[in-house]
Amino acid sequence: MSAAPARAAALPRVALAGNPNTGKTSLFNRLTGANARVGNYPGVTVEREIGRWSIDIGPVEVMDVPGAYSLAARSSEEQVAMRALFGLDGDVRPSAVILVVDATQLVRNLYFALQLIEAGVPLVIALNLMDVARSQGNPPDPVRVSDALGVPVVAVSANTGEGLAALGVAVSKVLARPDEGRARVTWRYPSAAERDVTRLVPLVTSADPTGAPPAEARALAIWALLSVEPGDELLDIPANVRREVATVRAAADAAGRDLDTEIIGARYRYLDGLGLARPPSTRITLTDRVDAWVLHPVFGLVSFLFVMGVLFQSLFAWSDPFIGAIEAAFAWLGDGTRAVLPPGILADFLVDGIINGFGSVLVFLPQILMLFAMLGFLEDSGYMARVAYLVDRGMKAVGLHGKAFVPMLSGYACAVPAIMATRTLERRRDRLLTMMVVPLMSCSARLPIYTLIIASLFPVDGRFLWIFPVQGSMMVFMYVFSTLMALLAAGVLGKTLLRGPKVPLLLELPPYRLPRASSVLRQMWLRAKMFVTEAGTVILGCTIALWFLLAFPRNVVFDKDYDSLRAGASDEVVEMLDAEQSAERLQKSYGGRLGKLIEPAIAPLGFDWKIGIGLVGAFAAREVFVSTMGVVYGIGADTDEESTPLRDRIRAEKHPDGSPIYTPLMGLSLMIFFALSAQCMSTLAVVKRESRSWRWPIFLFSYMTVLAWVVSFAVYQGGRALGFE
Ligand code: GDP
Ligand code: MG
Repeated sequence: MSAAPARAAALPRVALAGNPNTGKTSLFNRLTGANARVGNYPGVTVEREIGRWSIDIGPVEVMDVPGAYSLAARSSEEQVAMRALFGLDGDVRPSAVILVVDATQLVRNLYFALQLIEAGVPLVIALNLMDVARSQGNPPDPVRVSDALGVPVVAVSANTGEGLAALGVAVSKVLARPDEGRARVTWRYPSAAERDVTRLVPLVTSADPTGAPPAEARALAIWALLSVEPGDELLDIPANVRREVATVRAAADAAGRDLDTEIIGARYRYLDGLGLARPPSTRITLTDRVDAWVLHPVFGLVSFLFVMGVLFQSLFAWSDPFIGAIEAAFAWLGDGTRAVLPPGILADFLVDGIINGFGSVLVFLPQILMLFAMLGFLEDSGYMARVAYLVDRGMKAVGLHGKAFVPMLSGYACAVPAIMATRTLERRRDRLLTMMVVPLMSCSARLPIYTLIIASLFPVDGRFLWIFPVQGSMMVFMYVFSTLMALLAAGVLGKTLLRGPKVPLLLELPPYRLPRASSVLRQMWLRAKMFVTEAGTVILGCTIALWFLLAFPRNVVFDKDYDSLRAGASDEVVEMLDAEQSAERLQKSYGGRLGKLIEPAIAPLGFDWKIGIGLVGAFAAREVFVSTMGVVYGIGADTDEESTPLRDRIRAEKHPDGSPIYTPLMGLSLMIFFALSAQCMSTLAVVKRESRSWRWPIFLFSYMTVLAWVVSFAVYQGGRALGFE
């Protein structure tokens, strides 16, 4: 037996904390050589990352904590930072904290330091972005800051690498003698506030089974007083703490006191008294000058439209050749496999199940990579914060966050990368709300279905209101309709299931910085890897399951004796018989039976069981509807929406009573059904991954299916009542 490997948990842990956008992740990557994602954007780090760093005292574990402006947390994300710093809920408790401070905005950043000092956390302050502070001409003096606060302070730059060795020395010292990192400075709160805090201390102490030390219990009590409130998003706050906070706050209100002001005000007065504030730089920076244009009412809007246009273009036109190449490669692989294998179940499984499954995962990569290249650029440069700023008012009208704009826009191309892009939102509630409505945006997979139906059922030379071509108008209508439905759904869900406290857009506009290619590429790579390994496995599994549904059972009893009919027939007839046989096989498959089974449910929408089979097949990916219909109607699987035989066939389909199945009204109902239903397992797989629960994909699927059914029903039955067919 070999010796047990050294357990990672045995290493002392050092947490990197600080305000958003101060360079914590950059520093983390420098120290550990890791590949965490960096962005010039508040709220990029949502989960925490852990890596190793070797310093004098030996290897230590470094943890990148999500950014927070302070320990007062109202969202579950800020609470992640809080729990990580105090080692709550069974987390390893950090032995020391490096507070990363933006040296260009010293005093505001130090507010957080006061809270850590108050909690008795062993602390080292890293004054980061020293290169920038120096170039601005008034860098803070680490010695003065250290004297004022009583904790070690090191000047560093995550970009140039300056001061990192000194940081290692300082952290080693604090790890060896934690008291060196504990300041003995104090400030006082008004005595009424002190009494309130004292009332809460026993409750938070008992809530923590490890029995927190006194300073920390006091800090936790203050935290609870400032953070716990009705409607917050905090998780697992004991009921008695909630009750006591409510009582204390109600009493303070009744006495005409404002607890927030008492506590926060005392801290700021103390900070001010330290005399660390530097005169604000009166120089107009490059960022100020660029912002005068970018935030300009007219020019700002034009440049915004331009940037969003490029984003849009990249998701459609620029990724298209790559999507085509991936599809062609997998088609080639499939044909090659069929050529070397005898026809039968094995070849079908390999080609239609496995190869097709991998293809349907990888085909998302071009759009994911393009979107994350764009996002990386927008975030790193600092423009993303301006986007949020520009659209925030409009978005807020329907309860969405300004930053949800880019994911929503990306939803026109594909919901899968768009849902991954919700990562830029820092509140869980905002992320979930965006994820729940992005799939309503009309994605490009719906386009072939709209095209097929509109071209088959609406007259080419028809005019709507005498001037607008009917076919084009229908297409525009579908896009406008889906957008309005997405906004409506956001408004409703945001006021009901996903109600959250209103928070002002607490968004600083970070200075513009040149994006670094390495960090953008890194982000693209990480997202692609995550998609393929995590969402990809679900998608692959579902593709194989769907293939099974549509290909089994194998021992079909056919209505005709195809083999003897084929004998001696002409090539043309053989081809027809083959197609007819595939159609019959599909109709008798489990999927086909499922299509018949759901017929009663979809008949009120004007759909028959053959469309039911198409709907089952479309679950793999919406555009598969077209080729499934090709097989159902015996035209062949390689049918596309431009196929004339399929269009003719659709027009000719009749109900048993002889009336046509496909009428313009039924076509509209079918398009609306596709616009509103969550017919896309890849979307559901990604929502599962990003929300980390099955609850949200199940909810998404249910609400969209119900919505699709109800609206299609209303349109179809309403239209018939009005005399349309
Ligand atoms: P976090 O939100 O605190 O994790 O900050 P990030 O590590 O994501 O960095 C925010 C931005 O600041 C990125 O654009 C970094 O490239 C940039 N940055 C971080 N540290 C430094 C530094 O020391 N000097 C300069 N010039 N830029 C830095
Ligand atoms: Mg970060």
